[in-house]
Amino acid sequence: MPEPLLFEVSRPGRDGVTVPGCTVPETPIPAEWLRSSLDLPEVSEVDVVRHYVRLSHLNYSVDSGFYPLGSCTMKYNPKVNEAAARLTGFTDLHPLVDARDAQGALALMHGLQTMLAEIGGFAAVSLQPAAGAHGELTGILILRRRLADLGQAHRTRILVPDSAHGTNPASTAMAGFETVEIPSDARGNVDLARLKAALDERTAGLMLTNPNTLGLFEEHLEEVTSLVHEAGGLVYGDGANFNAILGVCRPGELGIDVMHFNLHKTFSTPHGGGGPGSGAVGVVKALAPYLPAPVVEHRPGGDPEYRWAVPAKTIGRVKSFHGNFGVLVRAYAYVRSLGADGLRAVAENAVLNANYLRARIRDAYPVPHGERTCMHEFVAQGRIDGAPDVRALDVAKRLIDKGFHPPTNYFPLIVPEALMIEPTETESRETLDRFADALLEIAREAVTDPALLHDAPHDAPVRRLDEVKAARELKVTA
Ligand SMILES: *Cc1c(COP(=O)(O)O)cnc(C)c1O
Repeated sequence: MPEPLLFEVSRPGRDGVTVPGCTVPETPIPAEWLRSSLDLPEVSEVDVVRHYVRLSHLNYSVDSGFYPLGSCTMKYNPKVNEAAARLTGFTDLHPLVDARDAQGALALMHGLQTMLAEIGGFAAVSLQPAAGAHGELTGILILRRRLADLGQAHRTRILVPDSAHGTNPASTAMAGFETVEIPSDARGNVDLARLKAALDERTAGLMLTNPNTLGLFEEHLEEVTSLVHEAGGLVYGDGANFNAILGVCRPGELGIDVMHFNLHKTFSTPHGGGGPGSGAVGVVKALAPYLPAPVVEHRPGGDPEYRWAVPAKTIGRVKSFHGNFGVLVRAYAYVRSLGADGLRAVAENAVLNANYLRARIRDAYPVPHGERTCMHEFVAQGRIDGAPDVRALDVAKRLIDKGFHPPTNYFPLIVPEALMIEPTETESRETLDRFADALLEIAREAVTDPALLHDAPHDAPVRRLDEVKAARELKVTA
């Protein structure tokens, strides 16, 4: 039964609040400013609580089940981070307060800048960008300013491999560059011959998602970055997939000049539905003067010890105030509670879990580049032998019947019928087995009873939608 609106269950005179008596002298409000009526639902407290709890149960979430949404890193977010982010010393702090009165918050931000620089192998970090894509734009603007300072403003092309995340070409275009796509080779790496052929005096740089959207680590990373540097370009690293290499290697040491971290993914903040996020950006020494202003500086013994500083050649501000501070607190708590060994274990387990799942399902679902060890995710195909009409979408919808959130579908675009699976490091072997068993069972159903897949989901509050109609005639109620 659809959940009624609170307005529909409203009864005149019923209420759920008791307004305390006035404790200050009453001041009359001029009549023209007074409302004659206020149309609010009149409901009891328990009606309101049950209404919202029932609605919340319609949502699938990381706290209710396995969520293998490739590229999104839907891992479990430790509750201790939430406790830290809700400390009133942080939440009551006004963003315009004098640095002297915000030393704790500044120390936390400085600590996070320092830890991220150490983890990524960078000289400096900005915490301002509000999302991964925003970090990309920030990084590309830094790259553009650097090239201009070097007298290289005629370099207007950025090379983007076809295995990059879709936000990469969008960011290069937003920053005013021409995007040139570089194909992948047969092993899923950047095609070196095509890269060499594309490099010339117009090349501003390369934007590399590594591990890429196929879940593969670039096997010629240092060669790729050297080629770009030799041609006079800079290398942007999309670090959203950093949970695969955390504590194992440092991009700043492998030729990446500037990279964003997705703090809400790798460093655990509940995300989805539009945020909040943080796309902190790390840069090598030559690019540090260009970081967005302000950054936090530490002068031991100074007054105040932590202060805002403006990098010498800053590209300016990219976000009001100081980034999404709550996400920064969670990231700080995450790094400090795991420590260096814990962070490395995150990457090792993320990679182990993905390879375990890949090995369990690859006989039933084709896995392009399945001969390679994957990193934190892999891309299978929703193509099943003996079931020619079954598509990735059918497999995904049938997974809902079996109690799982579907993997990412139809992305990356270079794999037809893509099912992009990222189990994350926080899942147990038992959960992975249940998910693999469900996928194997679906592959059998696809052959014996394909209608079961075509009509799925059967038990969800909303059944299969007409995708085209749903996009054109947006109607949120049944
Ligand atoms: C998620 C993701 C992004 C974009 O991050 P947002 O925070 O969603 O803007 C960029 N690149 C890759 C590889 C990603 O997985």
